[in-house]
Amino acid sequence: MKRIGVLALQGAVREHVQMLEALGCEAVLVKHRQDLMKIDGLILPGGESTTMRKLLDRFELLEPIQNLAQQGLPMFGTCAGLILLANNLVGDKPHLAVMNVTVARNSYGRQVDSFEIKVDIPKIGNAIPAVFIRAPHIEAVGQDVEVLAQHEGRIILAQDGHLLGCSFHPELTADTRILEYFVVSIV
Ligand code: GLN
Repeated sequence: MKRIGVLALQGAVREHVQMLEALGCEAVLVKHRQDLMKIDGLILPGGESTTMRKLLDRFELLEPIQNLAQQGLPMFGTCAGLILLANNLVGDKPHLAVMNVTVARNSYGRQVDSFEIKVDIPKIGNAIPAVFIRAPHIEAVGQDVEVLAQHEGRIILAQDGHLLGCSFHPELTADTRILEYFVVSIV
């Protein structure tokens, strides 16, 4: 059974845990350094990236997660999690700075402007529901980064080797296909 950590400092943690369990994985809540031992992959959930960054510093998790990413541990960042992974942030300093993408925050307006679309992702499946909540988008990708999905000309899902990042919240729907792609094809 694959053991997948979910960074559990803030944000949509429980939904990821439930989806991982539905996929037959063991979900491990990551709050302290030692929780990072013996995991096969790590999910950085959506929430609020500025708050998460403060908590990463307080719990001394920034460097250990950065090291694991550099050593090749598969990671999936959704929404705020994508912001944490990005090498470059428009108008801001990066956080983990491990994924070769440039991300712009709050690209789709405010919380009240949240919306859901169905997106076709050739590598994963068609009509996959995607929930956007004060979502970022990927403005540019580096060499060797694969663009997996776009919406209205903006990149919303990309893969940089063992690192996957999306603008939206796949865990807030009942559709497990994107998470399954992560745990089966990347982890
Ligand atoms: N706008 C949030 C941020 O900058 C991300 C929103 C989300 O994760 N739903 O962190």
